[in-house]
Amino acid sequence: MTSIAFIGLGHMGGPMAANLVKAGHTVRGCDLVDELLAEAAARGVTACGSMEEALQGCDVVITMLPAGKHVMAVWTELVSFVPSGTLLIDCSTIDIESSRNAHEMAKEKGCPSLDAPVSGGTTGAQAGTLTFMVGGEAETYAKAEAILQTMGKRIVHCGGASMGQAAKICNNMILGISMIAVSEAFVLAEKLGLSQQSLFDVASVSSGQCWSLTTYCPVPGPVPSSPANQDYQPGFATALMLKDLLLSQDAAKMAGAQTPLGHEAAALYQRFSDAGAGAKDFSAIIQTLRKETPE
Ligand code: NAD
Repeated sequence: MTSIAFIGLGHMGGPMAANLVKAGHTVRGCDLVDELLAEAAARGVTACGSMEEALQGCDVVITMLPAGKHVMAVWTELVSFVPSGTLLIDCSTIDIESSRNAHEMAKEKGCPSLDAPVSGGTTGAQAGTLTFMVGGEAETYAKAEAILQTMGKRIVHCGGASMGQAAKICNNMILGISMIAVSEAFVLAEKLGLSQQSLFDVASVSSGQCWSLTTYCPVPGPVPSSPANQDYQPGFATALMLKDLLLSQDAAKMAGAQTPLGHEAAALYQRFSDAGAGAKDFSAIIQTLRKETPE
């Protein structure tokens, strides 16, 4: 079994660290928030008061942090503490540039590294059914695969450094755009007098079929498990969707890619978030589209 340092025990990191413990690994965790440390300790994680303490004797370090600036700060510090050869894995969703820089820092220290962002949300983190999108060398991926499998159901090696982040950003741009497309169709159907159920019955078995419709339907009724049936409690919060869409726009600018719908989707989610809806599920975007439909 492996000795793992886990940095960032929040909504995702807390349950992920707990699943590593359940699989028999020794996990030393740290977070800036004392209550989260105590929760992790109750799940079998050794709570450490500092990152330096958490890194003692570990073979693998996993970070699960809010954004690129946190990952850069933590990795800058951690490469000064760990011996070369320590496997470093960042599971946060971050911008491509920070991800590349983190890999570069690890390489200079002689540490193999992976970017391994996830999808599946907090329920997937708790159930150990996350999807991992992994970037890094094949040899490094092979070393990490068994560890990732204890926290996830699908592990996809997407290519070299930062290609996990690239896959995550591109996937979530599809999701943000497709949720708006499905929502617009329901708003138009309402105006035309077409029932929500009839639209669902047709589109869910026709060429309009997509995950945003059939699994995460933005109106209550057709898919009982979708957040629309629970007053748009997340789920996947609007603030997180906005974060990922803004990452897609940073990446598009950096790479010189045209993403006009991604750009528009980011602007719509920004307006929705600015109006105070950041904590609602992202499928609640249908509410703002209804308001923006001229009478
Ligand atoms: P979170 O804010 O709940 O957790 C992040 C944790 O990192 C916090 O507890 C914070 O105290 C800690 N932290 C920050 N700086 C630190 C430092 N220097 N040392 C130690 N700990 C530090 O966020 P989350 O929801 O767990 O998300 C983590 C990452 O996963 C984000 O990049 C997010 O975009 C991504 N993600 C989240 C979800 C989701 O549904 N929550 C889904 C997929 C991906």
